[in-house]
Amino acid sequence: MPSRFYHEAVETKDRDALDAIIDERLKYTVAYAYEHSPFYRSWFDRNRIDPAGVKTHEDLLSLPIVSGRTIRANQPPETGDFLFRSVGWEEVFTVHETSGTSGPPKAFFLTWQDWERYAEKYARAFVSQGFGRGDRVVICTTYGKNVGANTMTLAARGIGMTVIPEGTCRSPDRVMARYHPTAIVGSVFKLLTLARTLSRAGIQPTGSGVSRLVAGGEPFASESRAYLEEIWGCPVHNTYGSTEGTMCGECDRHLGLHVPEDLVHLDIYDPSLRSFVPDGECGRIVLSTLIGEGERCGTLLLNYDTEDSSTVISRERCPCGRTHLRIMNPTRDAESVQAGGAYFNRVDVERGVFQRENMEYLTGEYESFLYSCGRKDEAVLQVSMEVLDPATTDREGIRDRFIRGFLGKNPFLGKAHDGGSLTFAFRFAEPGSLEISRSEGRPRRLVDRRG
Ligand SMILES: [Zn+2]
Repeated sequence: MPSRFYHEAVETKDRDALDAIIDERLKYTVAYAYEHSPFYRSWFDRNRIDPAGVKTHEDLLSLPIVSGRTIRANQPPETGDFLFRSVGWEEVFTVHETSGTSGPPKAFFLTWQDWERYAEKYARAFVSQGFGRGDRVVICTTYGKNVGANTMTLAARGIGMTVIPEGTCRSPDRVMARYHPTAIVGSVFKLLTLARTLSRAGIQPTGSGVSRLVAGGEPFASESRAYLEEIWGCPVHNTYGSTEGTMCGECDRHLGLHVPEDLVHLDIYDPSLRSFVPDGECGRIVLSTLIGEGERCGTLLLNYDTEDSSTVISRERCPCGRTHLRIMNPTRDAESVQAGGAYFNRVDVERGVFQRENMEYLTGEYESFLYSCGRKDEAVLQVSMEVLDPATTDREGIRDRFIRGFLGKNPFLGKAHDGGSLTFAFRFAEPGSLEISRSEGRPRRLVDRRG
């Protein structure tokens, strides 16, 4: 029976004790920022804030918010040096570049201690999902500049798992037959593709010996998770991570993602980024690094706007025994659009696609484009879905189920659709004919093409 916790004393601390750790670490982190980060030193001075006055995590509300734009504005060529770097070069272990939705990549510096903290976050997530010594885990996310795959690999060391670092994993049948992995980590679409490739090679995913999957890298709809669980015949656990250090993991109870609160502090802000929203309300995730007394940090962030949104589900103890707060699966604000007086996200489109009966005809691959039509406030959402067999596809049924799933319980979307300001067009595409299959990098599945 594997251990239920990776770091039990911390993961099960009562709220008061946990808050005390957070505040103590925040005080040290703020002092460290003032001393070692050229950006934060001038930020505190410029805003006339005394770093010693930041005593509790609520005090973060009185500090300004920084963003990806701030990082870009404080690195070459905009400035002579990387002003967010908070250690000397001799202490930098690795350098990463994170691609945003706009602008040049942001430079990110990690010390070895940063790697250890990141790995601990993933190790806690893995153990909370039932991983333990003897597990053999295929990691199908890209290594290289992305820290996720590498930190998961490092996390495996502390757990006693074997990692099979596959990256793109073009021959899952060989990997299965040779190494009998017990788990796979990948994006939802990677895990779907792997299942299809295995089936074509005569290996049923349900009989492959894989007993759990970890999905990460991008937000997904609960419908796509449910479908993956069905075709693999095992649970799919969720993770949320970024080079900036979010790294939250869902435990096997699937009651939200646990935030490792002693290692990273997340606040949820209203859209104007002026105040916190109450628990249970959706808002923008703002991150602050937390480091302990005497620790070092390569790129430290205080009040960093992640441009992702989520909701605090609970700060109460989870049935798994962990006390660290739980948040809903975050969505990317860059994947949200406004049309016909309503907002929707790429994940809403995915919900429409992955309606269970649709999956009798679809591969799951989709892309969507928003076009303007007629009057200025009228938009058409064109959804292209890859079909298994164009000859037998139930087009009418897919259309109806898509619209029902997409509109869901959102009254604003329903009104926009009923009033004609948001209409739909569908394209049923042969395998390999979607635009995303020809594009490089992270596929954009919702593209706003309204001039
Ligand atoms: Zn839990």
